Parts: sequence; structure tokens; C-alpha cells
Amino acid sequence: MIYRFAPYGAGETLKVRFSEISSSGSRYELSEIPAPETGGDFSLRAPAQATCVLTRKSATRVVLQGRLQAEMILVCDRCTVEYCFPVDREVQLILEVPDASHWQLREIEYSRDDLDIVPLREPVIHLDDLFRQHLYLALPVKRLCRTGCRGICPCCGVDLNIETCRCTQVPVSSPFAVLAALKKK
Ligand SMILES: [Zn+2]
Ligand SMILES: [Zn+2]
Repeated sequence: MIYRFAPYGAGETLKVRFSEISSSGSRYELSEIPAPETGGDFSLRAPAQATCVLTRKSATRVVLQGRLQAEMILVCDRCTVEYCFPVDREVQLILEVPDASHWQLREIEYSRDDLDIVPLREPVIHLDDLFRQHLYLALPVKRLCRTGCRGICPCCGVDLNIETCRCTQVPVSSPFAVLAALKKK
């Protein structure tokens, strides 16, 4: 049985209750995960897609094994040009409604596991939100349009990937840069 989720209305989130999930695994396909509405951190070339299998281990515990694919549009840290950043990552999580009395014991048990534990307030998974959060986790630490992007000349503002300028021949920090700047005037 495969559950497919296609475009849904604004503000609607995709809720899956633990009680709907099979203990032998239920498969979900999300064909359109919209980009976050707030913040200009990144945008998506097309809505992100995800597939996952949810397996109910107990009334309070579900294992998620999935895959998230997207094409992000990021702005290069060095040259400020927009570029495409493909995302294709495995997502493996344990979703659990923690039982206060057993939580500590279970933590020790889980620490041997590679799966991340996500504590939930109620036995409901907001699937699209969950995958949207993983888009943020997929963001690169350094955003570069290409390896070795040359950036923008701090003196004249030229995109050094496209053009070369005279000021680049002397490092800005060197005393010669100061001289070169004086000569221009
Ligand atoms: Zn760049
Ligand atoms: Zn320059």
C-alpha cells in the first residue's frame, strides 16, 4: 500500500497518526513539499520530493526510513550569484512520544544506534514539516557556486569568474595595493 500526497492547500500539513501506520511498514510518497514561506535562506527550483517507509514499532514509537530530493537555489557566498544545489539524502529517524519514566533507559539503548531520535508531543507525524526541516539540514556550510569560485573584486566589484581586473594582480592587504590605489588617483 502506497500513500501518495500531491499538492495540498496552503497552510495544510501532512499529518500521519501512529495508529494509521502498519507494523510491517507503510510507504508514503510526497510529490510536492513546498519551500518554507518565511525567510530568504534558500528557495527551491521545484517543490522537493520525498519517499519514506514508516514502521510502527509500538504505540509510542515509529521508525522512518526515507529519501529526500530537491534542487535548491542558493546564493554564492563569494560572488553572490544564484546557483543550483541538488539535494539527495537518506533520512533515518526514530519518532517517539517519550515516556518520562523510561526515557533515560531508552536513551542509553539508542545511543548505540545510528538513527536520530525525534521526540514528539503526540503520536502524530507532520511529514512535510519533518522533511522541510531536513532541507535546512542539507544546506552546505559554505555556499559556493563552484569549487574555487574567485568571488568579486573588493576594489572594483567585478565578478572575477567572468572578468579579470587590474586590481587583482596585487593582493589587497599588501602595501603595494595601497600604492596601486594611489597611482590610480
Ligand atoms: Zn561564486
Ligand atoms: Zn578589481
